[in-house]
Amino acid sequence: MIAELKLTYPPTEKLYFQDAYLKEFTARVIGRETMDDHPVVILDRTAFYPESGGQPHDLGWLNGVRVIRVEEEGEVILHFLEEELSGEEVNGLINWSRRFDHMQQHTGQHILSQSFYEIVKGETLSFHLGQDESSVEISLPSIQEKTLAEVEELANRIVFSDLEIKSYFLTEDKINTIPLRKPPKKSGLIRVVEVDRFDYSACGGTHCRRTGEVGLIKILRQEKIRGNLRFYFVCGFRSLWEFEKRRVWLQNTARLFSAEEGEVQNCAEKTLTELKNLKKRQKKLEEKLALYEAKEILQSSQEKIISGIFPEKSPEEIKFLALNLIHQAELLAVFAAFRDPYLHLVLAASDGLKVDVREVIKILQSEVNIKGGGSPSLVELVTPEKDKGEKILSLAVNYLKNQIGAQFNAEGNK
Ligand SMILES: [Zn+2]
Repeated sequence: MIAELKLTYPPTEKLYFQDAYLKEFTARVIGRETMDDHPVVILDRTAFYPESGGQPHDLGWLNGVRVIRVEEEGEVILHFLEEELSGEEVNGLINWSRRFDHMQQHTGQHILSQSFYEIVKGETLSFHLGQDESSVEISLPSIQEKTLAEVEELANRIVFSDLEIKSYFLTEDKINTIPLRKPPKKSGLIRVVEVDRFDYSACGGTHCRRTGEVGLIKILRQEKIRGNLRFYFVCGFRSLWEFEKRRVWLQNTARLFSAEEGEVQNCAEKTLTELKNLKKRQKKLEEKLALYEAKEILQSSQEKIISGIFPEKSPEEIKFLALNLIHQAELLAVFAAFRDPYLHLVLAASDGLKVDVREVIKILQSEVNIKGGGSPSLVELVTPEKDKGEKILSLAVNYLKNQIGAQFNAEGNK
């Protein structure tokens, strides 16, 4: 179908090449198709930019009908519509805030890519213009923070110099007369986008007419990818929005600490140290408490198997308690506690009983989704089936009862 399109329709005249600032235009419908269950129109000319070269497609309206996607097949531009469009003459209107945002990010990328090249000879391997942030993959295994700041500073100096950005077509044989940042992907007539003697790129996208319109270029973060670095960045209004978003985060965090914004890091570090010390102290106290609780339980119970669910205790506490019990007397402990989103189970046996509590795991796994392991005398398990606590406990207790029952019977027969 797409091959037929190439043959059937003449190339669409790309008005955005002549004027990236054209927001409204008139055109003639020269073809109608249905693709992906959507009406598609082909015009003799268009200001709608199709998805291409890392830049997303435009949105807008044709005679008031929403254009939801724009694609390029060969030299033909396809306008995907929300509903059928009547009439042969159309009035096109571009969603300008979206397009201008794309122009800021895209032009910013040219400037940033050349800045990476000038400062560290890092070549741009790919570009993606995302919904919230954009990214460039640069041929660098690593970069120092100071050097990255230099790259960012150069890019912004180019912005503040408000240089002119031109685009023109050159034939392939003339392309060597300009210092292109990257060899062109296309052959024949090549469109060059020049940031006034700073950067020369072969590019078919839409760009601002002066670098000043790009606004602040800010690198947000980086990650390693295929042995290179990928840098995420924002330009123009996105820089302003990003600043505001982060300002609110910082302001709210500072309020939590009742501190000045500049003090937040110190406060967080201090609080984390305090928390670590408190956790250590809590662990010691829990161990001590478990010792006393074990004594109390043993005074009031003669059972060989002690079991229970402890909603108030942590998984660590039931473990301390179980260990204390099996060390102070010859018995088995089967305890459960909760920590969202799981139910935790501890099975412990005094060595003298010669019971392998790991055997219980299989019994439980045949009934519930439960995971874990341990030694013959101590097993720790977790399950997301929190409401099955009673059932799990009784399964475990019954199995163990049989085990030790058999043991005592065997001993009795001796
Ligand atoms: Zn471009």
